[in-house]
Amino acid sequence: ESTERTDFVRERVQHDLSTDRFGGRVQTRFPPEPNGYLHIGHAKAIHLDFELAREFGGTCVLRFDDTNPDTEDTSFVEGIIADLNWLGYEPDDVVYASDYFEQLYEWAELLVHDGKAYVDDQDLETIRAQRGGYGKPGIESPCRDRSVEENLDLLRRMRAGEFDDGAMVLRAKIDMQHENMQLRDPVMYRIRRGHHHRTGDSWVIYPTYDWAHGQSDAIEGTTHSLCTLEFDSHRPLYDWFLEQLPLPSDRPYQTEFARLELTHTITSKRKLAQLVADGVVDGWDDPRLPTVRALRRRGYPAESIREFCTYIGVARTNSRHQIELLESFVRTRLNRTAQRRMAVLRPLRLSITNWPTGDDGEPVVEHFDIVNNPENADDGTRSVAFTGELWIEQDDFMVDPPKKFFRLSPGREVRLRGAFLVTCTGFETDDDGNVTRVLAEYDPETKGGSAPDGRKVKSTMHWVSAPHALSATVALYERLFSAEVPGGESGDPFDDLDRSSREVLSECKVEAALGDTTPGEVVQFERLGYFALDPRDPMWFHRTVGLRDEWAN
Ligand code: ATP
Ligand code: MG
Ligand code: MG
Repeated sequence: ESTERTDFVRERVQHDLSTDRFGGRVQTRFPPEPNGYLHIGHAKAIHLDFELAREFGGTCVLRFDDTNPDTEDTSFVEGIIADLNWLGYEPDDVVYASDYFEQLYEWAELLVHDGKAYVDDQDLETIRAQRGGYGKPGIESPCRDRSVEENLDLLRRMRAGEFDDGAMVLRAKIDMQHENMQLRDPVMYRIRRGHHHRTGDSWVIYPTYDWAHGQSDAIEGTTHSLCTLEFDSHRPLYDWFLEQLPLPSDRPYQTEFARLELTHTITSKRKLAQLVADGVVDGWDDPRLPTVRALRRRGYPAESIREFCTYIGVARTNSRHQIELLESFVRTRLNRTAQRRMAVLRPLRLSITNWPTGDDGEPVVEHFDIVNNPENADDGTRSVAFTGELWIEQDDFMVDPPKKFFRLSPGREVRLRGAFLVTCTGFETDDDGNVTRVLAEYDPETKGGSAPDGRKVKSTMHWVSAPHALSATVALYERLFSAEVPGGESGDPFDDLDRSSREVLSECKVEAALGDTTPGEVVQFERLGYFALDPRDPMWFHRTVGLRDEWAN
């Protein structure tokens, strides 16, 4: 996968290197909050942060932005590391914003000391209302003129736990009339008693995103702080905080790029968490979700996710990519790597009435060598057993077919893939008229699937020998959100949920070689698509993608 193409982020880095802005250093960071698992949008940010560092001989750090005790958890920390590694990236360091709590606090005292921060004990609603809005003046808090001594005393007592949650906040003293709302005396600390996954109960005040982020970048020696467009308006605040502190002059700076959005899906951690909590999906790795662990379980190769990220690149305007584009990267890669197998999802019995019996009085078992992957000769062939009792797909047979149906029907001859030509001679039904068994005769002269007299058949069907078949469960998936833009009409993405987006077929019959599939491996079921073996359940397959490329270029 080549990342030769350039973009505005890479041009900036190039420029900084040519002007020696950071002494030739490039350091990026990926800063997830450990309050959920990674999704495809994070994969885009990860790809940018890590590939950029790699291309310029720099480093990339994984920093957990763990400044909110209520929603964060160690299990998310571990899960994020695992997902990141699976995507193919190894951070140069793993660090935590919570490691900087003491340093951040010292700096906060410094700002108070310099008259650049104050304690506000109004309630949050009042503070919010006083902020004003665009074209609407802000109102200065009556607390703005507290003395340095009083502010210091209050801040220390806030830290010591003398006040209730929400009783007061520390705010930066910037400009209540600033046209950028972010600079209207933003909150730096709030009081919150919650057990933090790393610092336990040692803190009752927690820094806000804005107070923690740039300072964490600076502590780590980040050079290029890349984030999504919605932080655009935070950039002046990012710079303001850094300018107030005793830091070297080669301070990090922020660059924003467009979020990744995909059709038929959502990339909001909060909403994904709600789908999990509401039981709409089975968990964070339900194959219908756009989380990294779900895509992995569904059989998406990590390489194809990286190739997709390279292809879409980074830009400064938000856009929504078609999910079919991502799928076409998945399909292209799987086409090269997946072993071909035969599996019957909705089985119907096919009996070959002229199948021979051996000297032992038992039906003969024939073996065919079938190519594992036409895209890769090195994958060789496998031996597949054939008998007179087979499973075929229910929808490969019709009693009374329309004109364009070329599969099996009374009197029609078809090819059983890699085996013989067979002609349907009849069928059996139950009391309700449902077909329970199809009867056919095979032509012994057509071994391997072609007729010596050169006659052609219009259809080749997959099959599984009934006495050799293994039972399996297969899950088929539709889009979890039926609308291209979930919530595009009503505003609530959950209105567009397709609650029947999973179909579980539990009576599938598959060829014996599928018993050797390794957990997580993706195979192609001939004519049906690509299927991933579940990592935990040995006979459960998830459909990764269908065979046909649906991406409209
Ligand atoms: P969400 O809104 O899904 O909860 P977040 O931004 O709050 O996402 P973080 O864990 O803070 O989640 O994200 C870590 C990094 O990933 C941030 O730098 C963020 O900008 C980036 N990121 C998150 N979502 C996307 C996305 N859809 N596309 C690109 N980058 C993203
Ligand atoms: Mg965030
Ligand atoms: Mg967010």
